[in-house]
Amino acid sequence: MTDTELFPQLSIPETLAAGPGPGNTDARVLASFANAGLADHMQADVLRGMVEAKHMLRRIWGTKNTYTFGVGGTGFSGLDVLFSAILPGDTVVAFVNGTFSGIDALTVRTKAASREDLKANALDPKPANVTVIHVPHGQSVTGAVVEKALADHKPTWAMMAHWETGSGRINDLKGFSDACLRHGVMGLVDAVSSLGIEDFDIDDFPGVVGWASCPQKGVLCLPLTYAPVSFTDRYIAHLRENGCYSYVHNPIFEARHWGITDGKDVAAGSYHRTHSGYAVAAFHEALRINLQHGRAQKAADYAHHEVALRSAVQALGCEVTSNMTSLVVLNLPPSLAGREKELVQNARAKGFGIWPTLSEPVQVRIGILNQLSEAAITEIVRRFAAEMNAMGADVDLAPALKALESHYAAAMAAE
Ligand SMILES: *Cc1c(COP(=O)(O)O)cnc(C)c1O
Repeated sequence: MTDTELFPQLSIPETLAAGPGPGNTDARVLASFANAGLADHMQADVLRGMVEAKHMLRRIWGTKNTYTFGVGGTGFSGLDVLFSAILPGDTVVAFVNGTFSGIDALTVRTKAASREDLKANALDPKPANVTVIHVPHGQSVTGAVVEKALADHKPTWAMMAHWETGSGRINDLKGFSDACLRHGVMGLVDAVSSLGIEDFDIDDFPGVVGWASCPQKGVLCLPLTYAPVSFTDRYIAHLRENGCYSYVHNPIFEARHWGITDGKDVAAGSYHRTHSGYAVAAFHEALRINLQHGRAQKAADYAHHEVALRSAVQALGCEVTSNMTSLVVLNLPPSLAGREKELVQNARAKGFGIWPTLSEPVQVRIGILNQLSEAAITEIVRRFAAEMNAMGADVDLAPALKALESHYAAAMAAE
């Protein structure tokens, strides 16, 4: 290959995306993306779409926060906006129980670092003003852990992931919020994996002043669109008073394009950066699908299908250590222990997109984003069992299928 070669047109196959994310994108979202006309970022319908998306996001987040909008990019783009108000020297306590909260803590340490802290360890600064509380992989961050750390350190900010996708664990959001309130701490939450899956109102957690999610997990809008964020008035007032070291990721500036100026909704947005009408159309449709499904119904559907998948992989001899409803994190049976990455690689080579954990210990992650049917779950179980057997596990598929059948039959009978 040379730099002058014209590569053939890129074609990307359809895979069964059965990982922690991204989830399978609804055909309606892709159609909205592809059918949008070419229109610039200040065209009236593009601006109207953004304002409507802002209103839909408030319903999906369950909030009256005016500063609720989308950040162009991925989950970490939204998180970068969320953490933008953390300034060098600020005191922060960060709770880490897996890969993603670990990266969040790195972002926080980078932002709270002084110039000297950065110079000392440019890619992994360790400012003394940031305390990282490590909770072992496979365990949840509890309210008691948060309470103790905030009482000991009395920081300005605290940070936690709601659902830690790295280990598949749900952390204690109420405990976190209550402890933040008790100690006058401003809580920041990574809700990348929970928004659009769990049925919760962020306004019920007043200790949390800022939230960030992503386009590609529960919201199901991969065609790179918007990371939903929401900020309370307290966060915005703090930011207005203290500023931040970003133009593009300053929430006050970003919000203007979504029709939020000086703390108020205005009829149409004003220029912040060049948003894509295609992305706006796709995002708008994804939010409509979320609202049509209904938050409570969607949450119940995830819980229902996760139980089915869990019981089937247990019937295959696996041990499940997660408690999220969109993802099962498991240990393979003893005969395959240590071969997790090999199994995942074999599966991925056949278009069955499951994942290993990205931090130790190595486990297998199987997700069900937008795979909410008996047929889809059964297909996932069949393909997973086939991979286990291809590696010599010699497991019997029948009890796993029986577990699925009886779970779904019981649900039918109950209806
Ligand atoms: C997926 C995930 C992220 C990162 O999102 P990207 O879209 O990959 O940037 C951050 N936090 C959590 C909890 C996640 O699950």
